[in-house]
Amino acid sequence: MKKAISLLLSLCFLCVSVPVAFGADDLQVDASWSILVSEAPTSYETFASEKLGSCLKDVFGTQPPTVTQAAGHYIALGAAADADVSGVAVNGYRIRAANGNIHIAGTGTRGLQAGVYRFLEEFCGRKVYTSAITVLPVAKSIAVPADTDLIYEPYFEYTDTDWRSPRDVEYSMANGLTGGTYRSIPAQMGGSVNYVGGFCHTIGGLCETAKYAETHPEYLALHDGVRTTEQPCLTNPDVLDICIENVLALLSEKHDPTAPLQIVSVTQNDNYGCCQCETCTAFERAHGGVNSATTLNFVNQVADAVKAAGYDNVAVDTFAYLCWQAAPQNIVPRENVIVRLCPIFSCYAHPFNNEECNGQFMKDLADWSKICKRIYIWDYATNYSHTCTVFPNFGVIQKNMQILYEHNVKGVYVEGNYYMDACDAEFGELRAYMISKCLQDPYCDLDSEIDGFLEAYYGPGWKYMRKIVDSFIKYAGTFDGHACIYYGSWACMRPMPAAGIIDACWALAKKAAANETQLANIERSELSWRWYKASAYKGEFSVLNPLRFNNKEQLYKDLLASGIRTFCEFSSEDLTQIDPDVIRYDIPDRWHVGSENDEKTQKAIRFGKISEWLPVFGIVEYFWQMIAS
Ligand SMILES: [Zn+2]
Ligand SMILES: [Zn+2]
Repeated sequence: MKKAISLLLSLCFLCVSVPVAFGADDLQVDASWSILVSEAPTSYETFASEKLGSCLKDVFGTQPPTVTQAAGHYIALGAAADADVSGVAVNGYRIRAANGNIHIAGTGTRGLQAGVYRFLEEFCGRKVYTSAITVLPVAKSIAVPADTDLIYEPYFEYTDTDWRSPRDVEYSMANGLTGGTYRSIPAQMGGSVNYVGGFCHTIGGLCETAKYAETHPEYLALHDGVRTTEQPCLTNPDVLDICIENVLALLSEKHDPTAPLQIVSVTQNDNYGCCQCETCTAFERAHGGVNSATTLNFVNQVADAVKAAGYDNVAVDTFAYLCWQAAPQNIVPRENVIVRLCPIFSCYAHPFNNEECNGQFMKDLADWSKICKRIYIWDYATNYSHTCTVFPNFGVIQKNMQILYEHNVKGVYVEGNYYMDACDAEFGELRAYMISKCLQDPYCDLDSEIDGFLEAYYGPGWKYMRKIVDSFIKYAGTFDGHACIYYGSWACMRPMPAAGIIDACWALAKKAAANETQLANIERSELSWRWYKASAYKGEFSVLNPLRFNNKEQLYKDLLASGIRTFCEFSSEDLTQIDPDVIRYDIPDRWHVGSENDEKTQKAIRFGKISEWLPVFGIVEYFWQMIAS
């Protein structure tokens, strides 16, 4: 049977041929079928029927009618379906074949819609790989096994990631993203899990530390002997009152009683300035000697006030982060408190359950899971110091998600390259898709998902792209051992003996590209490999290549020409103003405006100039850089 990847609205269009086998007992769904809904459909059922109808039109060429009385074969939705979902968890669904027809029903606000998206994916082969690439094979009919009875229950009540495509509602619906910070899913599509007010680092604002700095310095954290606006003092009763007043004011303005869950973030400011006053210290000493004790006690009281005010669908969240990461003793979070644990110090060359590098995080996760029924994770998936280099975490994304699920985690946000519009030089869309699919189902066939993505995004040479990704997995952290989110290129992935083979893969993938878009996607991802090589003296940047200085200048020009405006998080420097000697003689990991004044860069420039004049000196330059990095 001929399959095609259809162009939907402004989306890409490709054609492939894949044989599809029909079993003797399969139901053959075609344009003669109808979509059955009840006579008074809910907004969820109306959306689900319209979505199913329009997608089946793209498959069959003719849209099956939506009816309220069965005539012939049908796909029944919601109340019209013969699919008992009374035992299915909230926002889950059931897809069932019975009596020659198909029945899809769901629970909660988004179960039915998710069931329709799953039907389209499972039986029609519809894949939403990016906000611009949807794959949907055309066919005269599709096969659904007669014994189909597929039940799905969400692994997490809250799922979110940023990047680029995950901000798109259709992408989020197809790939199971439910958080409301980076997308707003309309009510008929199931709505989002929204943070009311700020998403993170909100405690300074809620406690108004800046406002009271002069009049009530005792409201501020006492840190290293001085009162600081970095954090509030969380055992001061007035601070608690101020915070509660502000949280309740926020809710009176933005509370949605129809939402299944809304979250108010009462999260530490982004620094280590925790209060060391006598009261805070005494409280922490009595609760395991950890900073999280005062924070949890404070947030528990805010959560009590929220509950007492009648906000039953609201949870209050706080961070287990930096110096607050370890769980306290003799105090437990209220049921309406979420603890967001942040593995910011973790290694991503190895999974979370690697004792050597991630033992502390796993201990903290285990400790929190003993006392907290609602752990969320703020995970990381980008190199924030050198965003253009290869961040070799591809091999741990799925395993880590499984570990989190198996430790009773209820929600996950994966912070990625959220500034991708200013720095898209890597594998952003691939990572976003891998993360989304693992949030939707940590036990999915990720290998198959990766292959499908690579083919749709990079084109006919996708197997070469797969070999490249597999090499990054193989060599992740092999020398230094680990890869953290602020490491340099050399520390993340070395040594890389197969650089020549990987170079050949890039060339072959580019040669096979079927159009300019696929070629551009390959070249953009290749920038990260070139950055890595230039920082690790590999390939055309080897000390044995006298042209390596020119190659670095070309890399820099290509990075800027591709629209990159920053090389790292939190930088507003003008990349066009980087000193030409820094570009030519130092490694990309140290390319910054003003870095010509740094001691290491000055030495790199001196060494580079000598190497240019006396190539054999390149060996000295190489070993010095290896040590200096
Ligand atoms: Zn204090
Ligand atoms: Zn490690």
